[in-house]
Amino acid sequence: TAKFEQKIHLPRYIRVNTLRVSLEDAVRNLGESGWTLGTGPAPDKRCFVKDPVIANCIRFPPQSSFHGNAMVDNGSFILQDRSSCIPAAALAPPKGAHVIDCCAAPGNKTSHVAALLAGTGMIFAFDRNEKRCNTLRSQMEKFGVKEIEVFCEDFMHVSPTEERHANVTHFLCDPTCSGSGQLANQVSSGPAEEENQSSGWLSASDLSALAESQTSIVSHCMTFTACQVVTYSTCSVHEVENEAVVAAVLAKNPKFRAVKCLPDWEHRGTTAHGPAGPLCCRASHEADFTNGFFCCRFERIPKKGAEQG
Ligand code: SAM
Repeated sequence: TAKFEQKIHLPRYIRVNTLRVSLEDAVRNLGESGWTLGTGPAPDKRCFVKDPVIANCIRFPPQSSFHGNAMVDNGSFILQDRSSCIPAAALAPPKGAHVIDCCAAPGNKTSHVAALLAGTGMIFAFDRNEKRCNTLRSQMEKFGVKEIEVFCEDFMHVSPTEERHANVTHFLCDPTCSGSGQLANQVSSGPAEEENQSSGWLSASDLSALAESQTSIVSHCMTFTACQVVTYSTCSVHEVENEAVVAAVLAKNPKFRAVKCLPDWEHRGTTAHGPAGPLCCRASHEADFTNGFFCCRFERIPKKGAEQG
């Protein structure tokens, strides 16, 4: 089955939830359960390695099972693919920041943002799907995320001038995509179970409809008064949903530019749709031991004379 294929091809990853446990204590706990800290990209049996780029992300051999693991059950360890840790790391909100996660459910990236804020600041998390919002709420409780308000709303209908969002400087935008980067979608042609992604391989017109809505939602983030930084991410490998969306967003929003996100991440976007591509991160099974992924970081261009200050 697709799940079996995924297990045999990709390592398993855990993000240590630093709202619950420190990396040092997590490593000690793993040692006590018979795991050894190793080195190199592909850990051997009962060996794990710390991710070289993503802080607090730990890589295990492909068939590792964490079923019934107490640290998973109490929200200290989050089963989160390496690629899915890119957006919050690329957003890197400073302590105290107000953040909007506009397509948040089920909330792995939201809780990663919360871990970076470390109990400071505020997260406003939106998702238009009620069932997924309920999951988001219970996950945030499990992961110890307190500084958060969850709204089951279509983010496109949220007013950018609302008083509550007056200080929101950072936006994480991880909208619905084709899901074509997910290994599970490449070995199965069945429909996706949830709204987070389609079944992976869509027609050209379906893809361009997705790209249009992705461009609109990123652009909506940029209309918020205090918006300084937006990350846009997909688990798609299609340029039309990735580099082409970045180019369209930049064309529509001249006050924003793309900046190099996660400079230590080697695999970059293509130049097929303009010079911003290589500023973005790409991920693939072959190069990065993770699912196919894309992330761009946009920043508001400083007003003339403000850059040095
Ligand atoms: N960021 C999530 C995580 O890391 O767990 C995964 C998000 S999933 C790729 C996309 C989500 O966006 C879906 O839950 C979907 O319901 C939501 N969504 C799509 N368009 C939206 C909109 N206009 N407003 C609010 N939520 C939206």
